[in-house]
Order: sequence, then C-alpha cells, then structure tokens
Amino acid sequence: MDQPIGSGRVLVVEDNAINLELITDILEGEGYRVATAVCGQEALDSVRAEKPALVLMDVQLPGMDGLTVTRLLKADPGTRDIPVVALTAHAMRGDEEMMYAAGCDDYIPKPIKIARFRQVLAKFVPKKPTEKA
Ligand code: MN
Repeated sequence: MDQPIGSGRVLVVEDNAINLELITDILEGEGYRVATAVCGQEALDSVRAEKPALVLMDVQLPGMDGLTVTRLLKADPGTRDIPVVALTAHAMRGDEEMMYAAGCDDYIPKPIKIARFRQVLAKFVPKKPTEKA
C-alpha cells in the first residue's frame, strides 16, 4: 500500500438510512474518515475511484447485492487488496461460508455490537499513533 496505515477512508455501503447514519456516527466518533454508498453500483464505483482503506459492505442491497460487489472487487487486481467486511443480519454457518467464498475478509453481524465493531476496525485499519483515540 502507498498510504500510511490509518490514513484512508472507510467506505460504508448500506441502503438503510438509519443504519448508515448509525455506522457513520460510530466511525466518525472513533476518528475515522467516512465515505458512503447506498447501492451496489455506487459501492463499486466508489471503491474503484477512491481506494478506501476498508469497505463495510451490507450484504442485502438493492440491485447488485453486497456479495456480488465483493466478488467483482476481489477479481480486480486494482481493488482486491482492499479489505471487505460484510455487514449481515445472517450469521448462520452456511452464510458465513458464502461470505468468505465471495472474498469477504471478515463480517460483522447485525444488530452491530460496538465491541465487535471496534475490534474489526482496529484489525483492518489500525490508527496511527498520532491520531486521537
Ligand atoms: Mn440492506
């Protein structure tokens, strides 16, 4: 990666306005810079243009679903190294396998628990020591 760790944006892909606002608020409260997308095509375009540090990807989206977007991103050498974390209401065993098969690097079950959310963020986008906690 060209950029120092922690400098990039987190792209939140979520079609539910309340969830999108909640997740954005948490991220900004933690000191992350946030970009948003509300459908699969917008997510794809945003990742290709902005190269975010991390994508939080809702699985159920209008039009192209989150796993399809993830497959496309992971098949593209220009975007395959960007971590994708699925946000899903489904956390059954079969769904987990499907998410990893699509190329997701991890997943966060909904409703989101803040401890798990922080843990996953820190794993993929460690903060720079100079950034405020
Ligand atoms: Mn959704």
